[in-house]
Amino acid sequence: MRASFNESRTWVVSAAGDGVYEVHSFPNVTVDIIRHICSCQKWQLNGFPCAHTVIVLSSSGKDMTEYVDPLLLYTNILCLLLHLDPPNTNCMDARVFG
Ligand SMILES: [Zn+2]
Repeated sequence: MRASFNESRTWVVSAAGDGVYEVHSFPNVTVDIIRHICSCQKWQLNGFPCAHTVIVLSSSGKDMTEYVDPLLLYTNILCLLLHLDPPNTNCMDARVFG
């Protein structure tokens, strides 16, 4: 998530109403935080906020933990306990999507 945040720091976010935000990146994308949809489709596919979602949530003051798939969050914690290292994408992918 930290990498996503770093990637998104320079993007500008504008509210379009009803939980929908436009992220002015290249290309521009639309994020719907109520329906958990980003037009880049990574949020829907991964169940974890993409860089666009991270910047929208951080700029709008939302609690990011409310928008992370609970199963993915649980798996993330399990990986941390099993490996005694910070979880990585491969660990999460193998247990959730593998
Ligand atoms: Zn996205």
